[in-house]
Amino acid sequence: MRVFITGGAGFIGSHLAERHLQRGDEVYIIDDLSTGSMENIEHIKSHPGFHYVLDTVTNQQLVAELVDLCDATYHLAAAVGVKLIVESPVRTIETNIRGTEIVLAHAAKKRKRVLITSTSEVYGKRETIPFREDDDLVMGATNKGRWSYACSKAIDEFLAIAYWKEKKVPTVIARLFNTVGPRQTGQYGMVVPNFVRQALDGKEITVYGNGSQSRCFTHVSDVVGALMKLIEHPQATGEVYNIGGDQEVTILQLAERIKALTDSPSPITFLPYDKAYEAGFEDMHRRVPDTTKLRNLIGYEPTFGLDEILNDVIAFQRTKRT
Ligand code: UDP
Repeated sequence: MRVFITGGAGFIGSHLAERHLQRGDEVYIIDDLSTGSMENIEHIKSHPGFHYVLDTVTNQQLVAELVDLCDATYHLAAAVGVKLIVESPVRTIETNIRGTEIVLAHAAKKRKRVLITSTSEVYGKRETIPFREDDDLVMGATNKGRWSYACSKAIDEFLAIAYWKEKKVPTVIARLFNTVGPRQTGQYGMVVPNFVRQALDGKEITVYGNGSQSRCFTHVSDVVGALMKLIEHPQATGEVYNIGGDQEVTILQLAERIKALTDSPSPITFLPYDKAYEAGFEDMHRRVPDTTKLRNLIGYEPTFGLDEILNDVIAFQRTKRT
């Protein structure tokens, strides 16, 4: 199989590329290194089946060629990370919507398979958990920058479904919940790499708000496994699937767990959301996926528990320091 991965030098994209190469597939990636990095693909760069182009997904000509050349496309290129989104809303909205439009438009020519990665962020401020794929989405006000990410990804989903219904392009949508693992950077605000770095540095572990907000973390390897099954599954076409973990943890518990696992002297401190992000920032209080649909289709079962996920990130950050 020949696959095209947009955002292939990103955290998830690089793991996906690696797994396809291990399986003997040929992998083409495009990445503008805006949030991805060469470091992420250093170990696969010289693999004979790996081909990379450093460019943006808005380069139509290039996307057209690569979509055409490959059997299937994973569209992962996007502006990600709450911090980045709050700081650069124009880039978030434009990159997320334009990139998806371009990928789908070119896939439509020969009806090539496309997997669009979306986000649990689309559930917005919804309070009834667990979140199911057919639940209503509850968006915040448009003057709160954070929700532009949710809305831009929701538009991507509408587009993907529209291309399937109207133009018979086989698309599938994966809504990713908090995905973590080696190579994820804390630079764009993600909590696990941030806490691990702070703990290893002996610096304050900064919990935003009061730490009662919760998340379910999934190891990137479980996510990649699910993506690979979804893109090939004929019954997945035109459908949306949650991909997430099954262990809910509050952010304060997470900080305590990372402190314990790293044996760190770091104090745990609290930072108001206004200071961490921007005035009036709204967080999601609980975010828990219902993964029944995915389980029924591909037998999905997360294989990494929370401690295993955290230990993997800790080990990765430790080796980076030596
Ligand atoms: N968070 C935190 N400290 C940090 C980074 C994030 O307390 O240094 C919190 C953040 O406010 C949110 C949760 O951790 O409630 C998860 O944040 P992340 O940005 O990783 O993902 P999100 O679930 O918000 O997309």
